[in-house]
Amino acid sequence: MSRRRPRLASRLMTAQAVVVGVGAATLLVAAALVAPRLFHEHLASAGVDSSGVRLHAEEAFTSAFGISVVVGTAMSLLAALATSWLLVRRISQPVEDLARSAQEVANGHFDVDVPDAIFSRELQQLSSSFTDMARRLAETESSRTQLVADMAHELRTPLATLEAYIDALEDEVMPRDAAAWTTMRTQVARLRRLAGDLRESAAAAEHALGMVMEPLDGRDVAMAAVDAALPRYAAKDVDLKYLGCPAACPVSADSMRLQQVLANLLDNALRHTPTGGTVTVTTNRDATSMTLTVADTGEGIPSAQLTSVFDRFHRVDPSRVSVDGSGSGLGLTIARAIVVDHGGTITAASKGLGHGSTFTVRLPALR
Ligand code: ADP
Repeated sequence: MSRRRPRLASRLMTAQAVVVGVGAATLLVAAALVAPRLFHEHLASAGVDSSGVRLHAEEAFTSAFGISVVVGTAMSLLAALATSWLLVRRISQPVEDLARSAQEVANGHFDVDVPDAIFSRELQQLSSSFTDMARRLAETESSRTQLVADMAHELRTPLATLEAYIDALEDEVMPRDAAAWTTMRTQVARLRRLAGDLRESAAAAEHALGMVMEPLDGRDVAMAAVDAALPRYAAKDVDLKYLGCPAACPVSADSMRLQQVLANLLDNALRHTPTGGTVTVTTNRDATSMTLTVADTGEGIPSAQLTSVFDRFHRVDPSRVSVDGSGSGLGLTIARAIVVDHGGTITAASKGLGHGSTFTVRLPALR
């Protein structure tokens, strides 16, 4: 068991008292040794011969000198200790505040307010770094709590559907036909996709997607993604066009991950564009960057949600989730993390509901 140690202020004060005490004692001893001898020599050189007068003068000097030195030393001791106490408080107070805040954080209360330690730059830096650390811990904790709540919510619908179907099939109140199996398979696929996307989004949040950057032409990535999506677009009768820029679009990117981003944008565009609509993929470049855009003529996004669509599990219309249950609500979150890891940006634009949406990925051009 660790022994309870004295407080920092007591330690510092004891150290200061020892230093001041040793200084005062040295002063007293030095003065007692030197002053009477010097006075004695002064009397001799002044020609004071009478031993009676000399003895009297030396006694008077010793007494006056002794009293002044002792009183002076005592007063300076008091002044030194009082000043030390003020300084010790200023040093120990911020350290005590930090220790108290660290205990609060250890107890799970991240909302600590460490007073600014103005005594020294190091203490000030320590307290501001500590406040930053506590704030980041609070953010991590709140996003962890939010993630658990979101996940529970996302799992509830497919699990409830599966449970209802299993009960109904077991009680034979529902025919064991193809429709029942298809619904159950869809829900299992949704759960599997959710699990995969959760793993991806966790890796993306930690910048641990293990990307391999290589020089490539953005047009090739766009074309490959368009080719892969064409059959699904044809099946829904949505027109998919590709408008490539004439010049090469050199970028440093992970080909598979960039295709994943485009595949996700194309998948979203297809799901949110009705039959007969059009989706256009464009590549473009300027001196510093290249852009990939996916524009559709579909449902559109209200302007207030153009940023939040990139948030985890955000849906413009949550009631549609059970209808087209293929989306995990994490696609754009993962896409944004991949683009940001490429040093780029991804933005959404729309003229509002019913007026289509345009997603733009901008990446730094490779010089
Ligand atoms: P999901 O898996 O639900 O598609 P995403 O993260 O890919 O999740 O997208 C988040 C939400 O953004 C979608 O639920 C949808 O409401 C909206 N959204 C994404 N792309 C489009 C689009 N092209 N048109 C309209 N809304 C879209």
